[in-house]
Amino acid sequence: MSSSRRGFFRDLAAAVGSGAREAADAVREGTEPPPSPLTDAEIERYSRQLVLPEWGMAAQVALREAQVLVVGAGGLGAPVALYLAGAGVGRIGLLDDEAVETSNLHRQPLHYTPDVGVPKVESAAAKLRHLNPDVEVAPYQVRLEPHNADALLEGQDLVVDCSDSFTTRYTINRACCDARVPLVEAGVLGMAGMVMSIRPGRTACYRCAFPAAPQDAPRCADAGVLGPAAGVIGSLQALEAMKLITGVAPAVTDGFLQVDLAGPEFVRVHSSRRPDCHDCGEL
Ligand SMILES: [Zn+2]
Repeated sequence: MSSSRRGFFRDLAAAVGSGAREAADAVREGTEPPPSPLTDAEIERYSRQLVLPEWGMAAQVALREAQVLVVGAGGLGAPVALYLAGAGVGRIGLLDDEAVETSNLHRQPLHYTPDVGVPKVESAAAKLRHLNPDVEVAPYQVRLEPHNADALLEGQDLVVDCSDSFTTRYTINRACCDARVPLVEAGVLGMAGMVMSIRPGRTACYRCAFPAAPQDAPRCADAGVLGPAAGVIGSLQALEAMKLITGVAPAVTDGFLQVDLAGPEFVRVHSSRRPDCHDCGEL
């Protein structure tokens, strides 16, 4: 190991705080140092996160212990799954019933031209396992619907909704409220989108903010979407997921972030829990 590399890990050990101090105390006292909660390989892989003052060992362990369901392996699901796997979320479930199409490739960076025709969850899982072999990836080639939502949410610590239909969004919101599983919602179209974090029973749910789906809402296939716009919204969604799991920074709750990338303009829109909400009013 070069001296600069040793120096980096020494600085990193100091930065991650109490674990390093306990180890130094143990050396002075001639006792066994406490085992690190992270392996050397994990410390190296996640070093650029661990040095952040907001992050550290506890946040990294929280990610490793988390089980997250990503609904949709497309324009939003691709950046979400890539960043969550890269960051070290321990178990990622990927849910999508479609196969890769050529028209997906401009905005779905988990899928490449040779993947056309391959189920999206299989294509995505293969890339994620290459990115981070320590992450357990579970592909589910199904569509989330009212009859299977409860079973699919079983054991999940968090759901990230990367679907592109209002029907699915309301189904997921209801299921997450019933199971009290935190949820990150988002949508993207053209050069605009929104992101919203939900702690069921504590903050406004998706239906509190949007009591009914808009009539004749356009879809990507009809209205179009730019790849970088999906990338920005998906990246924001991944960041919200990491905030909800670790608590390192406040998530966008009780409202949503409205993003207009043509401007560009980011606007925080506030919302409150509705006592008569169909999905969370009884919680
Ligand atoms: Zn609600």
